[in-house]
This record gives sequence, structure tokens and C-alpha cells, in this order.
Amino acid sequence: MTGIARAGQSLKETFGFDRFRGRQEEVVARVLAGDSTLAVMPTGAGKSLTYQLPAVMLPGTCVVISPLIALMHDQLRSARANGIRAATLTSADADWRETQDAFRAGELDLLYVAPERASQPGFRDLLGTAPLCLFAIDEAHCVSEWGHDFRPDYRMLRGMLDAFPQVPRLALTATADKQTRADVMTQLGIPDDGLVLAGFDRPNIRYAIRHRDNPVRQLTDLMAAAPGPGIVYAPTRRKVEELAVKLAAATGRAVLPYHAGLDAGTRAANQAAFVTSEDMVIVATVAFGMGIDKPDVRFVAHVGVPKSIEGYYQETGRAGRDGDPSQAVMFWGAGDFATARQRLAEVDEGRRNAERARLDALAGLVETAACRRAVLLRHFGEDPPQSCGNCDNCLEQPSVTDVTELARKLLSAVYRTGQSFGMGHLQKVLTGSEDERVRQRGHDRLSVFGIVEGEEAALLQPLSRALQARGDLVATEHGGLALGGSARAILTGESAVAIVVPPKRQRRRRGDTTP
Ligand code: ADP
Ligand code: ZN
Repeated sequence: MTGIARAGQSLKETFGFDRFRGRQEEVVARVLAGDSTLAVMPTGAGKSLTYQLPAVMLPGTCVVISPLIALMHDQLRSARANGIRAATLTSADADWRETQDAFRAGELDLLYVAPERASQPGFRDLLGTAPLCLFAIDEAHCVSEWGHDFRPDYRMLRGMLDAFPQVPRLALTATADKQTRADVMTQLGIPDDGLVLAGFDRPNIRYAIRHRDNPVRQLTDLMAAAPGPGIVYAPTRRKVEELAVKLAAATGRAVLPYHAGLDAGTRAANQAAFVTSEDMVIVATVAFGMGIDKPDVRFVAHVGVPKSIEGYYQETGRAGRDGDPSQAVMFWGAGDFATARQRLAEVDEGRRNAERARLDALAGLVETAACRRAVLLRHFGEDPPQSCGNCDNCLEQPSVTDVTELARKLLSAVYRTGQSFGMGHLQKVLTGSEDERVRQRGHDRLSVFGIVEGEEAALLQPLSRALQARGDLVATEHGGLALGGSARAILTGESAVAIVVPPKRQRRRRGDTTP
């Protein structure tokens, strides 16, 4: 029987599955043939099986590198439940000696370790005492500084891998853009033809991205439209607490908080309540969700912008794992980008460009008038159709308005007022408002005073948001706005500016009052 035919049989015997899913089969075939591979598959695609199955079939132990002890223990439980001989070697384990003995005796299919363990000479010596069949490197994007979750410990893996050149490597990740992918392959010594990129599309998730004006009302509406369990991601612990209380009051539903500041008991209890509930909403910081297996999450909402497109995809990917219709809605504000861009100044110079590129990509997703899904999938290297029919922009085409002239007026007002005032003040200056503070500062005598009239004034806020998202307007320490990015190119007429006007505003402008 060929390797892969035998694999089909083991799949049934060990896991009880009738067939491989997505591109699992291809990855398993490569591993069985001894070829090093980077498998990029979305969360829930079944990555664990691609190393667990060969680990069962091949003689020798598969060493699995995994970044978080909690994740390792989850994996361990599910592997053992399938009758796989697995163990972990972590600081949280008391049975080190037994595990080492079992490994030496060739009685382990899987040995899970944290990356920092890999660099320890004692561990490498241990690995030399029994045959190995595979190195599986989970969350492999952590090895790349381009990745959104760089972990220096992952850099030390190479030494261990190279000490066993005959053992194939299988790197696994759910989130790697092109650059990160190339970097992971170089760092881990995986050949160019070793990439298996699985489909990232989650067709049952409806994506929508909206400006945040009243998060409690917006979330209440979403909860009414998607009555099942949901996750709301908020940027800070304080926001988490505040939203949990307000949403519970506004909806009468069970809404609990989850963040690292709560004691372990409360966290575990809230998580357990969520996992078993059919209608609970959990408000959480991004720490929540890793390793949680809840297939019927009906919506994931972001209050504020996620850290990156990778993060967004991973977090929204927790919705609808059962395949039923689900929603992913982001409520963003200009300030989210402004603060994130401000923080760039504190980032190491080596990482700053990567961070900036990450924000630009995110701004592109937020601001696009095109299909959200297409933007996401292209980001992950796919070539999707122009329109998906299941995102806000596909369902209701927004209009794109050229606002280059207005952008010049706004940027020039920013410049002429000394790059230290917020949008409220700038708006007053531009629309020529009779305002005490404007007069005191002498801003009523500037050439930009009152140069924005009528309908144009309504576009100032969305324009300012767009410019902040792109980094052409940046926040100053004191909450004012200053020129940044391509502001100068816009002022000199080299760059044009177009913004997306959401359908709601178009309707209102036509005097129609339907919501
Ligand atoms: P990932 O690590 O890619 O996020 P997991 O390895 O945790 O995903 O697998 C997600 C779920 O899919 C698990 O419940 C697993 O048992 C299931 N699964 C994996 N492969 C198959 C398959 N071939 N057929 C059916 N279910 C599968
Ligand atoms: Zn779409």
C-alpha cells in the first residue's frame, strides 16, 4: 500500500474521519515522503492532524514546538483522546522523568515542547537518544520579524533543527502574508517548493466595517440581528469592563468580561460559561479565543482596529466554525489609527517599516469601496473573484468621491494653524464659524477661514478619518493633528484623495429617512 493510501486508513482508525479536509492530504503526503513543508492553513482547517497522523504512522517521535503551555495541554488532551501517545515537557509538568524515559524507549508519538527548550543543550542531547520522525513547528509565523507575533525564542530553533538534518520539518501557521511566509521558509530551512497554502475563504462569515459613532447602540443592534453567542473585542481592560456592563444593561442578555486583569478563577469561569452558552456575549481583549473550541459563535465584533489584517482574520475566524451564517463587524474610529501610528515612533527602527506596512494594509481594508473578502484573500496570496456577495460593500455598493480639493483645504488649515489643533477647531476655522477661541487665536484672519461651504462641510469628518487611517494626518501628543505621510504630495497636487461614502449617508443626502 502506498504511504498516502495507508494514511487514509490511519485517518479512519486513529481519528475516525472518512476523508482529508482541504489540503491536509497534500501536507501529510509531503511529510511521509520526508519533504520539509510550510503549511499555511486557516484556523480550524485541521493543522494538528497533518503532523499527528504521520507521527502515528512513522517510526520515531514527532517533536512539536508550540508557543503556549495552555495550547500544548489542549493539544495533548485531544491527542490522547484519540489514543495517540503524547507528552509535554514544560515548566508546568511534574512528570519530566517519566516523559524522558518514555521518549528514550521509543514509546512516544508526540513530544510537545516550548521553543525556549529547543535551544538548551540538555534537550538536544535527549533528542539524540531516540529516533525522530518529524519536527512540527506550530505558530511558525512567530519566527519572523515580519510576522505580527515575533518571538525571539523561535530564532533559536534553527540550531536544533540543523542538529538533525535528516529529520523533515513541518512549519504550521494560520496567518502569514507573503513576506512572512518567505521569511519563515528561510529561517527554518524549508525549500521554495515546500509551501502548501490552503484556502483562506470563510464564505459563511459576512464582513462589515463601519465607522464607530455609538458603540453601545451599534453593538446592541448587532446583538439583536445575530442572537447567538458572540465575541466583542475591545482594546483595553477598562473598555472591556465598561462595555460588558453597558451591553448587559442595554440588552438584558448575559454579557461577561474577559481580560488578563481578572483573576484566573473569574477568567476560567467566564470562559467556561461562554463555551457552554447558546446566547452569551463575551467582551474581551485579544487574549481571548486562542485554543477555544466553540463552533457556534454567531458574531465577532471589533470595537477599535485590530493590530493587523492577520490578527483581524484570526479573530474574526472564531465566528461560524460550524459553517452557519455569521457576522464579523468592525467599528473603527480615526483615533485608533492615529494612536497606532503615533506608537510607531516608539517601535525599534528595524521593525518600524514592517509595522507601518501592517497599518497601511489595515487602513486599505477599512477604507476600501471594493469587496472586503477580496482584499483579505489577496492579502493572503489568493486570487479571489472581484465580488463575494457577502460583505457590506458587495451587498450595498458605497460611492467613491474625489475630495482632493477639500483635502488640500483641510491640510492647509492644519498647516496654517500650526499643526496643533484637533478636528473640532479645524472644522470651525474651515467653515468660518463665529467662535471665541477661533477669534482669540486670530484664526478668523487666516486665508483658510470659511473656505469650506455647504455639502462639502459634511465630508470633513470622513475625510479626516481617511487621512488619519492612511497616516497623512497624524495625532500630536496633545491631541492635535499634524501633517504626515503624503500630506505634502496632496498639498502640492501630486496626490489625489478619494474617500468612500457609506450608503447610509448617500440615502440621507437624498432626503430619505429610512435607517
Ligand atoms: P487548526 O489547528 O488548523 O486550527 P485543528 O487541528 O484544531 O485546527 O482542527 C480543527 C477541527 O477540525 C478539530 O476539531 C479536528 O478534529 C477537525 N478535523 C481535522 N481534520 C479533519 C478531517 N479530515 N475531517 C473532519 N474533521 C477534521
Ligand atoms: Zn464582498
